[in-house]
Amino acid sequence: MTAVAPLVDRFGRVHRDLRISLTDRCSLRCTYCMPAEGVPWLAGSTMLSTDELVRIARVAVEQGVTEIRLTGGEPLLRPDVVDVVRRMAALEGPGGAPEVSLTTNALRLPALAAPLRDAGLARVNISIDTLDRERFRALTRRDRLHDTLAGIAAADSVGFAPIKLNAVAMRGVNDDEVVDLVRYAVERGYQMRFIEQMPLDAGHTWDRTAMVTQAEILASLRTAFELSEVPGRGSAPAELWYVDGGPATVGVIASVTAPFCGTCDRVRLTADGQLRSCLFARTETDLRTLLREGAEDAVLAAAIRRCLAGKKPGHDIDDPTFLQPDRPMSAIGG
Ligand code: SAM
Repeated sequence: MTAVAPLVDRFGRVHRDLRISLTDRCSLRCTYCMPAEGVPWLAGSTMLSTDELVRIARVAVEQGVTEIRLTGGEPLLRPDVVDVVRRMAALEGPGGAPEVSLTTNALRLPALAAPLRDAGLARVNISIDTLDRERFRALTRRDRLHDTLAGIAAADSVGFAPIKLNAVAMRGVNDDEVVDLVRYAVERGYQMRFIEQMPLDAGHTWDRTAMVTQAEILASLRTAFELSEVPGRGSAPAELWYVDGGPATVGVIASVTAPFCGTCDRVRLTADGQLRSCLFARTETDLRTLLREGAEDAVLAAAIRRCLAGKKPGHDIDDPTFLQPDRPMSAIGG
């Protein structure tokens, strides 16, 4: 394969991680992400077909992407998700085949964990904000905690490792559960990660003064565990700590109070074919129209590079001029 220049932006950040939203539909309605009802779904005709998705992924991999994370919405709701994984895992770039991973609520993992593993899926990140059935029902507006737990067990039983569990910490909702969540994860050999809540909810109700900060999460954890920092974070969103000397670790994704934009290597493709250089970008690059107008690979590659050329140095959540993106998280791909 001929050498290509890395996918670098104006600030020298090299992009290797492509997050692809397979659908904006979800089987849960988490309060911090989606409204209870009246979700403005993306129109079916605008959704990328699997051939279109794989074509964009192929061009991105040929340009230097080495990691593909499938997300949504709920990516396992896409009927051909196993086929998508198989085709993406078979791509070839200058760095070889990409690592394909998935972020999911795990509800469909009891049925899909084994076929996904066989198709070449490398890892799963599973969202679980609480271990309490009533809280789960209130938070996700669905009584499905037992299904998420069964999905985690299924991922484990087919050998996915490491299994990373994600929880958005919320004041008065689950912030008293951080220790229990870490215990649950550590006892099973998983990694628990807490995410600071970001202004990406459909209702635009996020409040900087009410969100639970990394400092608060760590203070709660230190009431029960000895935490020591794990060095060598690289471009990972989560900062990690050893729990009681390790080897178990816990992570915090402090997107708001300790942003990691300076090392960001991520770019996002929405299910309707829009490329976003940041979760909080106010502009998108329309790859769908290019594809459907018959653009050659070189034109798609140039569009990807143009998108990255416009990437801002940071998300500016703390700037008084910050504006929440029009798309909620479920339609961007978290
Ligand atoms: N449905 C899948 C899942 O549940 O993991 C994938 C999509 S979901 C949008 C991806 C991740 O984004 C989840 O871990 C979720 O908790 C997180 N998320 C959604 N809205 C968020 C917000 N406002 N702030 C922080 N994280 C958020």
